[in-house]
Amino acid sequence: MAKRFMLLATGGTIASVAGENGLKPGMGAKQLLSNVTLPPDVIIDYKDVFSLDSSNIQPEEWRVLAGEVYEALKTHDGVLITHGTDTMAYTAAALSYMLPEMGKPVVLTGSQLPIGHLLSDAPINFSEALAVLSCAPCGVYVVFNHKVIPGTRAVKMRTTAFKAFHSVNGPLAGYIDSDGVHMEKNLPRRNPPGSELMDSIDPHVFLLKLIPGTSPEVFDFLAQAGYKGLVLEAFGMGGLHYIRRNLVDKLQSLGDHGIITLVTSQCMFEKADFTHYEVGSNVLSQTVFSGGDMTTEAAVTKLMWVLGDMENRKQYLTKNIRGEMSE
Ligand code: ASP
Repeated sequence: MAKRFMLLATGGTIASVAGENGLKPGMGAKQLLSNVTLPPDVIIDYKDVFSLDSSNIQPEEWRVLAGEVYEALKTHDGVLITHGTDTMAYTAAALSYMLPEMGKPVVLTGSQLPIGHLLSDAPINFSEALAVLSCAPCGVYVVFNHKVIPGTRAVKMRTTAFKAFHSVNGPLAGYIDSDGVHMEKNLPRRNPPGSELMDSIDPHVFLLKLIPGTSPEVFDFLAQAGYKGLVLEAFGMGGLHYIRRNLVDKLQSLGDHGIITLVTSQCMFEKADFTHYEVGSNVLSQTVFSGGDMTTEAAVTKLMWVLGDMENRKQYLTKNIRGEMSE
């Protein structure tokens, strides 16, 4: 039987056309479909959800998109989302947490050049995304330049190259070559926290990358501005300075203001480990948690999602639920 997929278009370079002030989204789902060769054995329904450069896609848009995906998965075999590349990894991670297990895949793709450009990577990314939808297990993936990347491990690493996305701190979920789609057999364990859409989210999360000499006073601003969460990219395995400028004490006092901190490493690869060095040993507490080997995108969106329903989701902050952290 033919598979039935839903295409949700959101804008991005893939759908962009030249405007007076540079590229901007100008094509909808129907036009995207008319620019690609479709497999004979699939039926594709489509909907224009947004027409945005992904720099304008924020937590409010993730909620709308999650609702659209959730509804579409009830009646379709999978969902394809076309999306700008700049914040695609954030959206993929956010959707990973918001969507329950529905036994079907969700794939995000986009391109570095508009679909109408002669050298565009859009047609191949689009075709590969459809091919992955036909055979991938339940989950959210980014499909880009022959790679299938778990939604919570995707990072945009390059601004212009076609090979823009990597799977950071976790294996690819699969790849595509001339033999077809090869999906990894042992994908990281997923621990579904619920069977309903879990789309409540609190955008009051701040991301700070430490530099040698960061003043503890910058953190005072967070409480004043109403932030509820902080992702702190610390040094190496998770070190913070405490001589002259005591960041460790400051993080604890943020907790007294009700702010939850997730400490990750500013190294792109591998984990934060607070047991290894003395400078990291007093960091963790009842309000300061280790982000392990989560990517920035996975950590920021997870903290927003946890803060969206603290009572029920706090338990998941330091647990792997969608392949976002190694166990
Ligand atoms: N600025 C674009 C966007 O993220 C970049 C792209 O799609 O490649 O919407």
